[in-house]
Amino acid sequence: MTGRMKPGEGPVQITEEQLQARIQELGAQIRRDYEGKEPHLICVLNGAFMFHADLVRAVDMPLSVDFLQTSSYGDAKQSSGEVRLVKDLNFPLSGRHVLLVEDIVDTGITMHYLLQYLGGRGPASLKVAALLSKPSRRRIEVPVDYLGFTIPDAFVYGYGLDRSQFDRNLPFITSQN
Ligand code: IMP
Repeated sequence: MTGRMKPGEGPVQITEEQLQARIQELGAQIRRDYEGKEPHLICVLNGAFMFHADLVRAVDMPLSVDFLQTSSYGDAKQSSGEVRLVKDLNFPLSGRHVLLVEDIVDTGITMHYLLQYLGGRGPASLKVAALLSKPSRRRIEVPVDYLGFTIPDAFVYGYGLDRSQFDRNLPFITSQN
């Protein structure tokens, strides 16, 4: 480990090894569940880019990918409660088995919005994979079909998640005090 690639001292610490082991398990489960189908794994930018990249390799079956981006936070650590789509999908969803890949479900507002939006575009099925969930923060209940880790209410960063746009490149998840 060099430079500033150091974990914080907060309550949530998930090592690179723990992340990779859990993602292998999720990948195997997804492969079993979608056997005979060709799932379409949609990455919610920016936070899910690393999880999505590792998950699609762990799934290890014929699949396609697409990317969308929402914005509700700006640089703030609290949701504004309003979700905007800032980058739309490139490919149609009609008849596809869609798996939405998100970094973290916090209040649930973003996921709720995305499920409504994608559900209206005619997928054959629609499920959710989220690396992290903070259930104590939920304001809207949303289904999470494949969950990496349940965590307490702490601001986390690393492994795709940012702290004021930095630290997305840490290979682990960490938190401050
Ligand atoms: P929600 O709409 O409140 O569920 O928030 C979802 C989005 O907020 C996630 O996709 C993240 O981009 C961001 N977010 C929520 N909690 C955290 C955190 O602890 N660290 C970094 N980003 C977070």
